[in-house]
Amino acid sequence: MIARSPANGQGEDAPGEPWQLALQTVVTDCDELLALLRLTRQDLGIDRAQTFALRVPRAFVARMRPGRADDPLLRQVLPLMAERTVPAGFTQDPLAEAEAGKRPGMLHKFHGRVLLIVTGHCAIHCRYCFRRHFPYAATQPSRSEWAQAFEYIRRDPSISEVILSGGDPLAVPDRHLQWLIGEIEAIPQVRRLRIHSRLPVVIPARITCGLPALLAGSRLRASLVIHANHAQELDASVATALQPLRRAGVALLNQSVLLAGVNDQVEALSDLSERLFEIGVLPYYLHLLDQVAGAAHFALPDERVHVLREALLARLPGYLVPRFVREVARAPFKVPLLPPVPGRAKELRG
Ligand SMILES: *Cc1c(COP(=O)(O)O)cnc(C)c1O
Ligand code: SF4
Repeated sequence: MIARSPANGQGEDAPGEPWQLALQTVVTDCDELLALLRLTRQDLGIDRAQTFALRVPRAFVARMRPGRADDPLLRQVLPLMAERTVPAGFTQDPLAEAEAGKRPGMLHKFHGRVLLIVTGHCAIHCRYCFRRHFPYAATQPSRSEWAQAFEYIRRDPSISEVILSGGDPLAVPDRHLQWLIGEIEAIPQVRRLRIHSRLPVVIPARITCGLPALLAGSRLRASLVIHANHAQELDASVATALQPLRRAGVALLNQSVLLAGVNDQVEALSDLSERLFEIGVLPYYLHLLDQVAGAAHFALPDERVHVLREALLARLPGYLVPRFVREVARAPFKVPLLPPVPGRAKELRG
């Protein structure tokens, strides 16, 4: 058995696992990325001075199409001068998360579930991320702060689900997760454990044999919400990596963000849903872009969003249509996009 990590296990393990090496050797240099993709720097509008820097795992770069500046995977990670344009309404903390932090490293916004920020680190930097300005360092919990978070959960009998999030919670070693899960299991009223992670997509090797075993061995019912925005992200390596989790009985879901230039076509969204189902994952949320400073170039007009949703509803079985939701600061749930306006469906057919 692996020793339990006493506290914040980040970086305590020897970097022996292949995924840890992959995490340490991500591409952070724009010129290297362009060279790997056989792109020249002209006309791409790259911004090398962004504080939210380029960061992309090589396994993800390998799924980008060389020579294509418009590649949907490349668009998600390339820092652009366009990010400097910040229209009215786009802010640093669009979800007012700074207020929701009940304890360091913990957000409690919705009934019955709390979200733990296991680490501020991510394997990849997604340009549209609503947490791109989040003060991660300040919310990295220490051992005693973790104890406070567990105590907060223990004292609220309504909390039945704990969500491990970040950053990316799978950026920490399995033994740290094992410690955290053990602490959560010891809180009697908690029944469900959820992990929100982009790592199974961007570094599939992160799904070690230890992880499915850890989840299968827990008394908590486990789900994993992965994050892919385009079918091209879900190659055979991702499909293979997820299989042991399915066999371990982990419910697999996906969340995406609706992004101009990435997945704002009916075909792209429909292919994503089809591919997810093929690899055993159900579409969960399609998030409308949060109005975070630096991400305005990914925004779509509301009208376009409605047209896309209605076209998807008309094309796919209900279980393959993700819920279109918007985060509204201080709302008690992720707010669904309102139902189609009667009459527009006819326009769509015509
Ligand atoms: C998104 C989110 C959740 C999870 O919401 P579900 O609708 O249960 O998926 C929980 N807590 C916080 C703070 C969130 O942002
Ligand atoms: S992996 Fe998630 S938290 Fe990390 S940068 Fe991307 S969207 Fe943000």
